[in-house]
Amino acid sequence: MNYQKIFVAGHRGMVGSALLRQLSALNGPQPEVLTRTRDQLDLCDQAAVEDFFATEKPDCVLFAAAKVGGIHANATYPAEFGYQNTAMAMNCIHSAYRHATKRFLFLGSTCIYPRNAPQPIPESSLLSSPLEQTNEAYALAKIMGLKLCQYYREQYGVMFHSAMPTNLYGPGDNYHPENSHVIPGLIRRIHEAKQSGADSVSVWGSGNPRREFLYVDDLAAAIMHLITLSNPPHWVNVGTGTDLRIADLATKIAEVVGFEGEIHQDTSKPDGTPVKRTDITLIKATGWHPTVDLDEGLEKTYADFQNHYETCS
Ligand code: GDP
Repeated sequence: MNYQKIFVAGHRGMVGSALLRQLSALNGPQPEVLTRTRDQLDLCDQAAVEDFFATEKPDCVLFAAAKVGGIHANATYPAEFGYQNTAMAMNCIHSAYRHATKRFLFLGSTCIYPRNAPQPIPESSLLSSPLEQTNEAYALAKIMGLKLCQYYREQYGVMFHSAMPTNLYGPGDNYHPENSHVIPGLIRRIHEAKQSGADSVSVWGSGNPRREFLYVDDLAAAIMHLITLSNPPHWVNVGTGTDLRIADLATKIAEVVGFEGEIHQDTSKPDGTPVKRTDITLIKATGWHPTVDLDEGLEKTYADFQNHYETCS
């Protein structure tokens, strides 16, 4: 590891905690790992961020801070998703540049790509047609972040670059009943249906949308790999390249949880983008590939949920 002081922005989130796991398992000399809770450092506060970078001068930043949520949260709170994600990215990228951070890895999401992008989605489809409406605010903020990294790298020669993970899941996820993503949302709902002896459970939308899911420790490994590359792509997809129907995902989760009742689709809820599968040719060519398949990942995630159920309501 060529870095002495790594700032993991968003270390309490699902991605940030997976990054801390990777960093603590490193062989050889350990870099100093800087973390700040939101109470200690509000990344939306430009003056506070500037002060932090001026004082600490991290030589590497892994930017996993984000206001995230599932389809319902994104559609309901676009002002917060747009403002907070833009402000955090802008403040951190600019202060990192001002204080000579050698490496900045910005994290976005594959929702930056157009709703009707070709499948599997290549990096080159960015900004080629309109975005999906349900998460447009989040997507625009993440597009600005990745473009700022590109602009600073091109204009100032700094090594700022981005990774765009597909839908993530794993330990430390947010299991909120409404505001979470589909895997933690369904794990919770199906678990509670089983506990209460219910004979049916509802799944949002038609069940027909297709999604791809990446286990968060695979993403963390990809990030550790990307920051060793001497000439990384400006932005690169990180995914598995494999997707499935939401209805089939629900069946799998019911099996993992041991729920034998009926699963019905609640079509009053939105479907979102019809299909979202990433082309991972580019990252594979750099030497990374996913290692945890969905069945194994769901088992581990359900175990994590059960360990934290009391505290994640
Ligand atoms: P998206 O990829 O931004 O749409 O993220 P989500 O993880 O929120 O939703 C993925 C798909 O799962 C959408 O088609 C949702 O309608 C569907 N879905 C089914 N049940 C649920 C649920 O309980 N929570 C969420 N968030 N989505 C669900």
